[in-house]
Amino acid sequence: MRSVTILGATGSVGASTVDLIKREKQRFRVEAVTADSKATELAQVARDVGARLAVVADPAAYTELKNALSGSGIEAAAGADALDEAAARPADWVMAAISGAVGLKPTMAAIERGATVALANKECLVCAGSLFMRRAAATGATVLPVDSEHNAIFQALGAGRREDVRRIILTASGGPFRTWTQAQIRSATIEQALRHPNWSMGPKISIDSATMMNKGLELIEAYHLFALKAGEIDILVHPQSVVHGLVEFRDGSVVAQLGAPDMRIPIAHCLAWPKRIDGPAPRLDLAQIRDLTFEAPDTVRFPALALARRALEAGGAAPTVLNAANEVAVGAFIAGRIGFPSIAALVEATLEAATVRGLLGEPAGIEAALAVDHIARSLARDLLSENAVKAS
Ligand code: NDP
Ligand code: MG
Repeated sequence: MRSVTILGATGSVGASTVDLIKREKQRFRVEAVTADSKATELAQVARDVGARLAVVADPAAYTELKNALSGSGIEAAAGADALDEAAARPADWVMAAISGAVGLKPTMAAIERGATVALANKECLVCAGSLFMRRAAATGATVLPVDSEHNAIFQALGAGRREDVRRIILTASGGPFRTWTQAQIRSATIEQALRHPNWSMGPKISIDSATMMNKGLELIEAYHLFALKAGEIDILVHPQSVVHGLVEFRDGSVVAQLGAPDMRIPIAHCLAWPKRIDGPAPRLDLAQIRDLTFEAPDTVRFPALALARRALEAGGAAPTVLNAANEVAVGAFIAGRIGFPSIAALVEATLEAATVRGLLGEPAGIEAALAVDHIARSLARDLLSENAVKAS
């Protein structure tokens, strides 16, 4: 029996993880589940999977959690420290599915004790990827990629020796605006941006998919996960989201992983790794799908992708700033404060402001990376309130 903890259990990836665990109750024992403020939902999840501990990050949600758990024998806790402690509790396997760089600290708590970490939270690798991977190597933690493209690469890499890999290719659906003109994209609404054609996901990553910043973050995620050079990672738009990732070997062989666009496939792979378990996701019926198409990404209509590649190539804290500014920008867009094209514009302006202030040196440790994250967020907020970025 494997003990597991789910960070971000009330989210989209969290719910898919819970679904799999509920189907395999004899295989998994749940140590802790966490959320931000959705206390009643979290209590229900905790009861469903028989967790020992449930934690909300927001202290104001504690009473609601405590009441919802009454009589269950499940421990309740709240606050940022309690979140880190939940991750530090002995569980063999931890799903890191909090959204945003705020997930870095609790995920590090699991890394520090050498756990197997199924990593969905890409922002924490973009914020502090080198430090994160270095600590994982030092503690003997195993990092399993949950993000579908990276999980695909992880599976395909098994087909050959690491030194024989020429490049990897991450596919991108292209998001809801793939076929839109630049003028149409300029006036995209929140509802339109949230409507992903293939995947059902949380709001932040859905907006990132619409700007294609998601693929930019994934580029940086792949760089750290697989220790590649920036030039060895390519992006390919593939609207059907069936081929998730490809690895090209030196002899010209290209090995890909395919599957229905259902996160329960990569999550099941990580849950059972190095074995496999039965998965409930729809089976791939290629005769039914018939056409798989591919096209080059367009960085003119989707400038966020180019910004992310530039940040990766610049190195140091540029990806940290990129991620922090993007989180602020996506929040502002969802709040109706800025228009869709201002998301990428704000990220670019924040990167420029951070360059001027000499903020882009390599952070010495996780705390230093979080300090840069913090400053970058306030730079982005200042730019927002100064209206320095044209809101269209
Ligand atoms: P959701 O928004 O659906 O869920 C986020 C989870 O994190 C919720 O449990 C939420 O709690 C919790 N959370 C949010 N903010 C905080 C905070 N400040 N402190 C503690 N917990 C917090 O996100 P997704 O499941 O879509 O995504 C999770 C991560 O996985 C992201 O990094 C995303 O990029 C990545 N990912 C997601 C995929 C998907 O298919 N959804 C695919 C690949 C990667 P509450 O419910 O209380 O708000
Ligand atoms: Mg992905």
